[in-house]
Amino acid sequence: MSLHIRQSTLDQVLWHLKRVYPHEGCGLFLGRREGDRAIVEEAWPAVNLNTERAADRYIMNPPDQARAESYARGRGWEVIGCYHSHPDHPARPSQFDTDRALEVVDFVGPWVYAVIAVRGGTETEPRAFVLDVPGKMFREIPFVSVEQEPVPAGEA
Ligand SMILES: [Zn+2]
Repeated sequence: MSLHIRQSTLDQVLWHLKRVYPHEGCGLFLGRREGDRAIVEEAWPAVNLNTERAADRYIMNPPDQARAESYARGRGWEVIGCYHSHPDHPARPSQFDTDRALEVVDFVGPWVYAVIAVRGGTETEPRAFVLDVPGKMFREIPFVSVEQEPVPAGEA
């Protein structure tokens, strides 16, 4: 599995995460799967409902998620994953991230998780992971940004 995203879409995600720094930002990836590629067509920034621990936890607004799902379906896509930032922390899932992903895996399916470090509000490092359910851990997958269309339909 690998994550493919247009550079312009990735730029939108990074802009969002830098804007909410030093808080965690989060959102969804809408797109499709082709073979072993998860192809992001659009990113859907969401509101972090966790104001108490906004610097190191995020809770996605459920209506955001419901709207994103119906929008994706209308375009023949699905919600294929999510992203969130780690302000001034490494771009790898925390134990909390892992525990929560294991809790929701039966509902969301095989999501791709992007964790994006934001250092000092400017420097970013995106990485991507999938959940290894039996192993109860995340495994890193390639995070591929491309200049134009990720992958033409039918060519994966
Ligand atoms: Zn996290």
